[in-house]
Amino acid sequence: MRQIAFYGKGGIGKSTTQQNTAAALASLGNKIMVVGCDPKADCTRLLLRGKRQDTVLDTLRVVGPDKVTLDAVISEGYGEVKCVESGGPEPGVGCGGRGVITSIQTLQELGAYTDQLDYVFYDVLGDVVCGGFAMPIREGYAEEIYIVASGEYMALFAANNISKGIKKFATRGYARLAGIVCNSRLVENERELVEEFARRINTNLIHFVPRSKDVQRAEINKKTVIDYDNTLPQASEYLQLAAKIQANTNFTVPTPIEQDELEDLMKEYGIVD
Ligand code: ADP
Ligand code: MG
Repeated sequence: MRQIAFYGKGGIGKSTTQQNTAAALASLGNKIMVVGCDPKADCTRLLLRGKRQDTVLDTLRVVGPDKVTLDAVISEGYGEVKCVESGGPEPGVGCGGRGVITSIQTLQELGAYTDQLDYVFYDVLGDVVCGGFAMPIREGYAEEIYIVASGEYMALFAANNISKGIKKFATRGYARLAGIVCNSRLVENERELVEEFARRINTNLIHFVPRSKDVQRAEINKKTVIDYDNTLPQASEYLQLAAKIQANTNFTVPTPIEQDELEDLMKEYGIVD
């Protein structure tokens, strides 16, 4: 079983990329569980074709910790992907990251991590790897971390912070950086910029995912692109990403850069006119 986490700035495309990659791997015959670690609980919506999923935290609140079952917190989606949403506290009350801890512990206690699974994906909110959001890394659950980023400054700023978090926990856990997924925002020289950024923090650009309206088309139909129409060029991009993840063995301890270096990099590759 490989345990993989996707981190990245909010809105960068983690859930879209993660669900399409899970769908692609499932379509190749892999058994997958996706654990949504975003209090918004929208990490598995496309895999579930829009079906509302009770979160682990809500279920625990309603039925109590003694009566909770795996069936109550796992819904099967496209390609038999097992979908879990951790959930979170009411907005403004408590720490969102705590839901992640509770959720993973509940899954562990109920025996969700079986040998039948080929992959477990964690879709984690967080520009900074703090508190509960660091849990999949800190407690040795997620072993491979992919950072979803783009050529925009704040996306790379967040990616750099996440790599600091991975480095911090690398000494006591197993978590390693496995690559950057560039989810394109049509920034000038984007591929070159993100490739160079990846090199500086001691990893690789694993795949450049183009921006495509087919992502939105599929989303309106409450599906991943793979599920919506797997003959689309965008579906082929996610299949390529899935194949690269499958073959990847380059797991590193990252070397985060200083903010000045990141700014210089932006100037060097960024828009100059
Ligand atoms: P996150 O999980 O990081 O917060 P999402 O996956 O929810 O981000 O993506 C935010 C929005 O960006 C979604 O509405 C999605 O349609 C859009 N999006 C993501 N990736 C792409 C892409 N490659 N091309 C076009 N739109 C995209
Ligand atoms: Mg998301």
